[in-house]
Parts: sequence; C-alpha cells; structure tokens
Amino acid sequence: MLGFDDVLLAGLARDGGLYVPRTWPKLAPDAIAALAGQPFADVAVEVIHPFVGDALSRDELRRMTKEAYARFGHAAVTPLVQIAPNRFVLELFHGPTLAFKDVAMQLLARLMDRVLGRRGRRATIVGATSGDTGGAAIEAFRGSEHVDVVIFFPEGRVSDVQRRMMTTPTEANVHAVAVRGTFDDCQALVKGMFNDHAFRDRTSLAGVNSINWARIAGQVTYYFAAATALGAPHRAVSFAVPTGNFGDIFAGYAAKRMGLPIERLVIASNVNDILPRTLASGTYEMREVVATTSPSMDIQISSNFERYLFETCGRDAALVRAKMGALRQEGRFDLGGLKANMQKDFAAAAASEKDVAEAIGRLRDESGYLMDPHTACGVVAAERALGADPRTLQVVLSTAHPAKFPDAIAAITGKRPALPERLSGLLTAHERFSTIDNDLAAAERHVEIVTRATCEGPA
Ligand SMILES: *Cc1c(COP(=O)(O)O)cnc(C)c1O
Repeated sequence: MLGFDDVLLAGLARDGGLYVPRTWPKLAPDAIAALAGQPFADVAVEVIHPFVGDALSRDELRRMTKEAYARFGHAAVTPLVQIAPNRFVLELFHGPTLAFKDVAMQLLARLMDRVLGRRGRRATIVGATSGDTGGAAIEAFRGSEHVDVVIFFPEGRVSDVQRRMMTTPTEANVHAVAVRGTFDDCQALVKGMFNDHAFRDRTSLAGVNSINWARIAGQVTYYFAAATALGAPHRAVSFAVPTGNFGDIFAGYAAKRMGLPIERLVIASNVNDILPRTLASGTYEMREVVATTSPSMDIQISSNFERYLFETCGRDAALVRAKMGALRQEGRFDLGGLKANMQKDFAAAAASEKDVAEAIGRLRDESGYLMDPHTACGVVAAERALGADPRTLQVVLSTAHPAKFPDAIAAITGKRPALPERLSGLLTAHERFSTIDNDLAAAERHVEIVTRATCEGPA
C-alpha cells in the first residue's frame, strides 16, 4: 500500500492497474451541511484532506487550494446557473484553459511540486490528451521547477483553441507532441511508457491523466460544493456528466461513497457510446472512434471504468485483471452479474450530433444560455434519463466554455462566441510543437531528449 504522495507521483501502478483509496472516507451529514456557502477552497480542503492523511496538514492544503483556485475567473470558482425549473448547469470552465480539467489540475500541480521539492527530485509528466487535459496540464505546470511536461495529442483531432493552449506557452519545460493517430493511440503510448519500467525509472515518469488518483480526488470537490449549495444533505440531487474517460463521473461515484446523497448519476455520451451500450447490454465492447463536435468525449475505451469495476465487484483484483485482459485481446468483455450493479449505480444516454445542435439552439432560445457541445450532451442525457421530475434537482456538469469550440457553435447558432478577454492573445501567438508517428520507440526517444529528469541519478 502506498501513501498519497507516492500515488500522486506514480499515476499508474507498476502492474498496469489504477490506484484507489484503501477505504472510502465518510463525511457525516452535519459536516456535509456545514459546507454550504463556504468558499470553494475551503470545501476542497474538507473533501480532499481525508485522502491525504499525514502527507499534508490542513493548513498547507488550504494554502494550495487557495492558490490553485485564485486563478479562476469567477469568485464562486464553479458557479451554478439555473436553466430550467429543476435543472442547473454547474460551470466548471472558469479556469485558465476554459475546461473543467483546470479544477483538479491546478491543485495537482501544486501538490506535485511540493512533494518533489521536499524529496529533492524532478519528474517528467507524460500525458495523452483528446484536447483538454493537455492544455490544462501545460497551463498548470508551465514554469514548474521540478517538472517537465510532455503532452501527446492526436494530430488534427483537437480544436484550434485546444491546440494553441498547448503549443503557445513559451516556457522551456513544456512540450506538445502531435501523434499521427487517435486519442486512444496517444493513450496507449503513454501506457506503454509507464509499462516500460526501465524507461519509467530513467525519466522519473509521472502521470496526470485522469488515471491519476489525485485528479479524481480534486474533482470530488465540486459535487459537494454544488449539492450543498442546492440543499444537500437534506435534499438529494442528481448529476448528468459529459463522460469520456469516466474520471469525472467516477468522482461523482466517489462523492456518493463519501456520503453525499446523490439520487442518480447519469453518464452522458456523444455517438461514441461505449458506456451507454455497456449499461444496456452488459457487454463492454470497443468500436471505431467517430469524430464529433465534442472531441473530448471521442473515445472508445474509458480508462477509469476499471476503477468502477474494481469497486463494484467487491475489489476482486483477479476478476478485473481477467476482464481487462479480455478487452486487450478480444476488444470486449461481459459484465455478467455486474450489469445489475451498473444499472443501479448509473443511468446513461447518448446524444447524436443532431441532438446536440438541437439542444444548444433550444436552450439559447428558451433561456438565453449558450452551452458548448460537451455540456449539450449532458443536457440531452439529463432530459432523457431524468425527465422533468420536480422532486429531484438536476445538475448538468458544464465541462467547457462554448468559446473553446467556436466552429461547432458557429455552425449551430450562426455566431462565433468570443474568447474571454484574458485569452485574447491566444489566436495570434507563435506555436511550437513536434510531430511523431504512432510508435512507442519514437515517443520514448522524444521524451528522453526533452526531459531534464534523466540528468540526475536515481532518487
Ligand atoms: C475531459 C473532458 C470530458 C470527459 O471527462 P472524463 O473525466 O474523461 O470522463 C468531457 N468534456 C470535456 C470538455 C473534457 O475536457
């Protein structure tokens, strides 16, 4: 068993598995009720500290959460906006890269730098991104003394704004790499690097993908903040979550395990609907990825689903290994008796491109609210899976600012949304990135050339 610091630095376990906490900390109803109306940085301390144990004092953690969320463009950090009588949007996009990944990543960067500094070490972060993780990581770690960041993204499959957020920072410790392949190829490269133990040690690899446990912990925060703002624990709230790698919705599941009364957790997908299909059929089966207007959800495998499997089968590691082995070899596995668990824990719905366009236009006409295509998948899924039942309030997680996907929005509404003022230099700044083939050896060579971590002896 590892401590929080070690898990923070490791990302993926040596056997290829994912870390989860040994036990789920529980917040008592009184403690949950006391979170209502608190500053977000304080809510985060209450939610995250139980996972941290002795690694950090509450005061140290509070200093970091304050600093991390001070970079957000809204005093509430993750404000709620009402869009229908029983439905709210939880805006998670007020951070520096206009997407929800900033919430966890800004904190993660501070935690990592602190742990590395204390140990006198450097690390190399490698990450795969379908668009948003990369920019959030680069933005969080740019200029970090102890960390180099190398982000692999699928060439031509991220939006201009997403690419520019990765390729325009000038700090020498950040490196964006285009891969001739899909997001899943990028993710396989990163997994391959972690599984190459000699390489991993030589370069002090660390991960910040949604497989990093600390990121999940950092995402549990806004479930508590939103639910308590709407009356939890006295009132149960349902959440609809635009889902790709299953990290964000797994954080919702974690919040529930920690005692937050969540009525329904709705997995929202676009046409890349592996999870809704799994929930309906009990078979988890890979298919070709289709490019959509919500590219951060264009995936065929949801890495964090493995964490849920582990939890729902009673932490039977052998069973999870067998299922993951079948997935690698045959591209599918059956949930068997676990299908009923999944249907109890989650609902799911997939939005077509037409559904997305229709929902964006309709909400703008009805309420004057402009949402991005990822958020639109969430609204469609909430409508389908939860309906308009007034007894339970619904929260749709808004994972990106509409200006992050201006072409998609312009095609639907006829108008390009403007970037917030603070990002006005982005579209003209000089870009810097490399391009490589979808090949593990090429990726490893690239990392070894750019990182500073190999200059040092073992820690
Ligand atoms: C990453 C991302 C998602 C998917 O989140 P997961 O944690 O991978 O399920 C959804 N929307 C946006 C905008 C994202 O950046």
